[in-house]
Amino acid sequence: MSLTREIKNFALDLGYHYVGITTAEPFAKAAEELESRQDAYRWVIDGRLKMLDCATPTDIWPSAKSIIVVAYDYAREGFPKELVGKLGRLYQSRSYIAPKNRIHGARRHLFKEFLESKGLEVMLTPKLTVPERMAAARAGVATFGRNNFAYTKDSGSFIVITAFVVDAELEYDEPTIEAPCPEGCRLCIDACPTGALEPFKLNPRKCIAYNCFMSQDDYAPSTSSHIPPEIREKMGSWIHGCDICQEVCPRNQRKLKANPPVNEFLARIAAEFDLRKILLLTDEYYEAVLRPVMYNYIREKKYFQRNAAIAMGNSGDLSYAPHLVQALEDPEPLVRGYSAWALGRLGGDEACAAIEKALKVETDESAREEMEAALAA
Ligand code: SF4
Ligand code: SF4
Repeated sequence: MSLTREIKNFALDLGYHYVGITTAEPFAKAAEELESRQDAYRWVIDGRLKMLDCATPTDIWPSAKSIIVVAYDYAREGFPKELVGKLGRLYQSRSYIAPKNRIHGARRHLFKEFLESKGLEVMLTPKLTVPERMAAARAGVATFGRNNFAYTKDSGSFIVITAFVVDAELEYDEPTIEAPCPEGCRLCIDACPTGALEPFKLNPRKCIAYNCFMSQDDYAPSTSSHIPPEIREKMGSWIHGCDICQEVCPRNQRKLKANPPVNEFLARIAAEFDLRKILLLTDEYYEAVLRPVMYNYIREKKYFQRNAAIAMGNSGDLSYAPHLVQALEDPEPLVRGYSAWALGRLGGDEACAAIEKALKVETDESAREEMEAALAA
């Protein structure tokens, strides 16, 4: 059996649903896009991800010869209705950048070990990866959608792609660099609440998903914890990710309608999911409910609290007001400020009085600004 066949067999046996192989040649189109939109992508070009450098794999890994692309269909299990519209399905599935001691991380680790046992050098550097969607298309694993997601034939866009760069030449698959979207379809573009999409282009700064988790102070060059008020209003009930441009897509409907059983662990998380508890976050709730599904990007609890405050403010549900008032005394200025914004958005005399009272003792400049803006709205 050829090494290529052995590798593909092992990937499928491990539980990956798709596998393909491409060369380690540069991803010229990805590099061109990043070069031309450096302002929007500064956070991935200059930060730890070094995405522009990774578009030329041999610049990062001089011995790179091939890229083995595997994809996992994370929608083979269902998603609890309590979490849909709040947490992106990808995060609910716990399959993205999973740690080694979780099943999806263990699978990645086992595959790497297997490749190494075959004498291959595997260049799986933490944080650095080749443009995975492009690699998947070049390896014949996926095609593109106008919403920029990679689509497989049977799993739609609900896939996690991992690219293993190796130092051996292998047998390469036919690329599928195409976008078989129905002619004239722009459902994803029209459905995006923030106008972040145009065909094959995303403005990350406007994207709800980006704002949920990349808006952290010092996370990457040019990121900050501030979410513009006009984006906050459009975030609706999302607190981690956003699936809207995938949910409306005709290429995903068969998968969305399949309704498979929900994983038991996820069902437990869903039963305990409560915006009030996220806003007034305790260490215990964080460890038991948030961390198992939202470990990927957000490192500090205050960002979950901020996102919960935004979702409460957008809900129109006045029963959240007492919890937001309580959060005006949170030790984190970010939480105090966004709770004031949420109270201002919910409205009412009591909310106003609570913000005025908090403003009298507020010493943090950014929290004060949020409170003043909430009162002026
Ligand atoms: S993930 Fe949401 S906000 Fe981002 S582009 Fe898609 S629909 Fe728009
Ligand atoms: S919604 Fe339409 S245009 Fe957008 S990715 Fe799906 S098929 Fe393509």
